[in-house]
Amino acid sequence: MARKIIIVGAGIGGLSAAVKLAHAGHHVHVIDAGAQAGGKIRTHLGSSGPIDIGPTVLTLLPVFQRLFASIDEDIHEHITLTREPILARHWWPDGTMLDLHDNFEQSATEITAVFGKKSGKEFAKFYNDSRLLFDCFDKPVMQNARPNLLQMMRATLKRPSVIGKMKPLSSLGSSLSSYFSDPRLAQLFGRYATYVGGTPQTAPALMSLIWQAEARGVWTIKGGMNRLARVLEQLCIERGVTFTFNTSVTRIRRSADRVVGVDVTDGTQHTADAVIFNGDPRSLSQGDLGPDVETIARSTKSAKRSLSAYVWGFDAPVEAANLAHHNVFFADRPNSEFDDISRGLMPVDPTIYVCAQDRGANAPTPHVDRFEIILNAPPLSQRAPEPEDFDRCKAITFNRLERFGLTFHRQIGREHLTMPQDFAERFPASDGSLYGQSPEGMLSTLRRPTCVTPISNLFLVGGGVHPGAGVPMAALCGQLAVDEMTRRQILT
Ligand SMILES: Cc1cc2nc3c(=O)[nH]c(=O)nc-3n(C[C@H](O)[C@H](O)[C@H](O)COP(=O)(O)OP(=O)(O)OC[C@H]3O[C@@H](n4cnc5c(N)ncnc54)[C@H](O)[C@@H]3O)c2cc1C
Repeated sequence: MARKIIIVGAGIGGLSAAVKLAHAGHHVHVIDAGAQAGGKIRTHLGSSGPIDIGPTVLTLLPVFQRLFASIDEDIHEHITLTREPILARHWWPDGTMLDLHDNFEQSATEITAVFGKKSGKEFAKFYNDSRLLFDCFDKPVMQNARPNLLQMMRATLKRPSVIGKMKPLSSLGSSLSSYFSDPRLAQLFGRYATYVGGTPQTAPALMSLIWQAEARGVWTIKGGMNRLARVLEQLCIERGVTFTFNTSVTRIRRSADRVVGVDVTDGTQHTADAVIFNGDPRSLSQGDLGPDVETIARSTKSAKRSLSAYVWGFDAPVEAANLAHHNVFFADRPNSEFDDISRGLMPVDPTIYVCAQDRGANAPTPHVDRFEIILNAPPLSQRAPEPEDFDRCKAITFNRLERFGLTFHRQIGREHLTMPQDFAERFPASDGSLYGQSPEGMLSTLRRPTCVTPISNLFLVGGGVHPGAGVPMAALCGQLAVDEMTRRQILT
């Protein structure tokens, strides 16, 4: 029997759930406050085409392959994917440069060549330990809609050698200092905490498994990451999904113990057999979706928020620099940016990520490059915007990159920069944070809201929900939510 399902938000989590539900024959209506599907997967239109100003690193391809297979499609027939042989090129202020490759042997050889034999061996140990952690927790925790402590303990008991590697009382930063004698390598692998909006000093040692997601391959998409959202949207439309854009859901209505529909900005009420919320779950606990659902995801109300960012998107001819697709220009002092962020300051000595979208495997060097440049930032509640922020951020970013030999030949204006306040405006209740609540402490994974809520026909999906932030995780969350709906017979 076809059910009527409303999905609030057309981010990757919402789209993944929508396409699966529509494929199963349900009537799906997706309502988004933005002008198009994709949420954080966004572009800025430059003179040489659309420039990604959201995610750039596509990892964990099997998550997407499974999603497409579940709707009887082959991802490779819709999206041209290139596996990048270089995961990222890393640059330090002392002139050191290091590529990490998409296979262990090449990365180990390069680390040995650049940092010496001892570092090569340290990397091998770190690689193996983080792989063990990933393999141990992938199924029982990451691919589980509602993991709990008992399941986590069972997973570790099945592989007792993993217990010592979890370092339950250590932060990622201190754990990395014990792996690597060269602080530059600890700095490099510590940066992976920022992929989920954490810092190496506060993220648990267990977060070393994030690097494993990248070690298993990084893909670029022809046409940019935005193509993934466009393709999913099209597959939704082909299966009868209705999209309404530029419309905010202002209330989720409940009658007794079930949700019954939503209200939107112009006052229209839509009824539904089930509702999936793809916005930041903090919206619910803040009461933005009305009193009927304000007890949902209650812990997000006071939980510390993850990092925000300053994100540049522009195209320009560029001088110098042997750029790869993904490039990281490290700070002078490893923790200075995180110290500044924790004090509510714009980092003056940041690590800067530069995505040169037209570079990469087999790509000819373009005359004009499209760039996305990201600097970590405190969320809005930790730092209020100041009128000088644009000029300050511009000076910090481009003076620093110039020191690495990178000069961009173009005038760069406010329209090229997304700041924490812009993210806060686009993503209600996010506080400008890009990855939901901050991943602090050993059990942070278990403290995120899950896709299942105490209301049997209300579900949550997206980066603010377990298994967490990032495009593959949000897509996985959408799939887990639909599996849970099926299991709980919400759809029958
Ligand atoms: C600059 C940047 C770089 C990133 N880099 C990477 C990367 O390289 N790799 C990676 O894997 N991840 C990356 N991420 C993270 C990744 O983009 C996100 O985790 C993921 O896209 C979030 O998807 P989501 O399903 O949570 O939906 P979101 O993208 O958060 O979208 C939610 C949608 O819900 C809508 N919405 C919210 N509330 C309402 C309401 N009340 N009514 C109507 N609509 C509503 C919003 O308008 C929005 O469209 C990056 C993010 C950013 C911002």
